[in-house]
Amino acid sequence: MIKKFIRKILGVKNKTDAAGNNMEPDLLDPKQHGIDPKLLSNNAIRVTQTLQEAGFKAYVVGGAVRDLLLGVKPKDFDIATNATPEQVKRLFRRAFIIGKRFQIVHVMFGQDLLEVTTFRGPAAVESPKDEHGRVLRDNTFGAHHEDAVRRDFTINAMYYDPATQSVLDFHGGMADIRKKTLRIIGVPEARYREDPVRMLRVVRFAARLQFSIDPATAAPIAVMAPLINNVPSARVFDEMLKLLLSGQALACLKRLRSEGLHHGLLPLLDVVLEQPMGEKFITLALEATDERVRQGKPVSPGFLFASLLWHQVLEKWNAYQAAGEFPIPALHLAADDVLDTQADKLAIQRKIGSDMRDIWAMQPRFERRTGKSPYKLLEHPRLRAAYDFLLLRCASGEIDAELGEWWTNFMTADGNEREVLLAAKPRTAGTGAKKRSSSRGGRGRRKASDSAEGAA
Ligand code: ATP
Ligand code: MG
Repeated sequence: MIKKFIRKILGVKNKTDAAGNNMEPDLLDPKQHGIDPKLLSNNAIRVTQTLQEAGFKAYVVGGAVRDLLLGVKPKDFDIATNATPEQVKRLFRRAFIIGKRFQIVHVMFGQDLLEVTTFRGPAAVESPKDEHGRVLRDNTFGAHHEDAVRRDFTINAMYYDPATQSVLDFHGGMADIRKKTLRIIGVPEARYREDPVRMLRVVRFAARLQFSIDPATAAPIAVMAPLINNVPSARVFDEMLKLLLSGQALACLKRLRSEGLHHGLLPLLDVVLEQPMGEKFITLALEATDERVRQGKPVSPGFLFASLLWHQVLEKWNAYQAAGEFPIPALHLAADDVLDTQADKLAIQRKIGSDMRDIWAMQPRFERRTGKSPYKLLEHPRLRAAYDFLLLRCASGEIDAELGEWWTNFMTADGNEREVLLAAKPRTAGTGAKKRSSSRGGRGRRKASDSAEGAA
């Protein structure tokens, strides 16, 4: 500490390794960092303590430290240690080594899961890369300061030791927290090339934390954005999901757009956001999502992606009908097309894809307001999501608000009131599903099992 103080006065830089990486962190005490130890989870303390008692180094790291410094209770805790995955596993009753590419250990206490990662070393020069320079595989262990260099942003590269309550800061993260700045560690171009997902992460953190992006960190993004196209779609999907469930989805998407990242990423957004009705719909959907996240309510990814892609479905649905297809099969064909296109860009998981399809396929069924159809719909397990979706369509001006109001009444009514509602003649008929009775006997049909026709 004193040595460092003297070095500081003399203007001597901290000790660096051969690669020029800072080896000695700033050591911050509770007065300097202000972390409230009550925000720490007992299990995080348990894990670091167990590791330390076995003679290893162990710290809370990454997003949890960042959140602690911002006075926010972290939603999960990652632990960094110099113990190898095998050594970690031996210390805990329920611990599992996972991952081929980067081995980490999942330590479980009841429902609570902590990720324990061994300090990682520098990406070896010879580690395999794709033709654009994206690092495909490297799993070398390293020293503590090397682990810090490999992290993405200065504010994500701090380590907290619950035992001493001190923070180790290798890259000026504390100063950046104070300045509310996101700064990538190292040379921005090189870091984005190694892993283009970092461009999405910087946008997500900036929007979520309301931080600004350091100019040097922001500058290469416009040019390098297309590199996202080479990232495996499952990873892009995971990152998109984090972004959409961050509680700041709308802000994130606006930022993606202003950084030019939405082009490579979500081709759907190019089209959808550029048309006023689509933009209105997505804005409303994301506002509702953000509100739910902030209230701690669950959000269904299926609903979210169904919303993001709806105006593409709508466009194709109309096109198929214009080409002579019946409304219901046309909707299924449109859904197939949109889901197929997205499969290349975002690996939408099967379950989420089927949720999306259900939500879309149920829309025309809301238009049937006579006979048994509405009662059948009430029993559908996904009624709630489909109904919320219907209300969004009303609110965005796509369809008449009357349909949504009718369903709100029908769903809350008792038996007699329902009969009255069914008997009342709807003010308007028809929605996005343009009826084309003239087209009967047209081209090839697809069986629409979960459709208004199927239910009739
Ligand atoms: P969140 O609150 O969203 O979980 P986080 O910072 O904890 O934010 P994670 O994805 O959980 O984000 O990652 C944990 C830590 O791992 C990060 O804080 C960062 O130090 C490091 N990290 C994650 N992804 C990358 C990456 N692509 N490149 C470099 N470091 C990364
Ligand atoms: Mg995290």
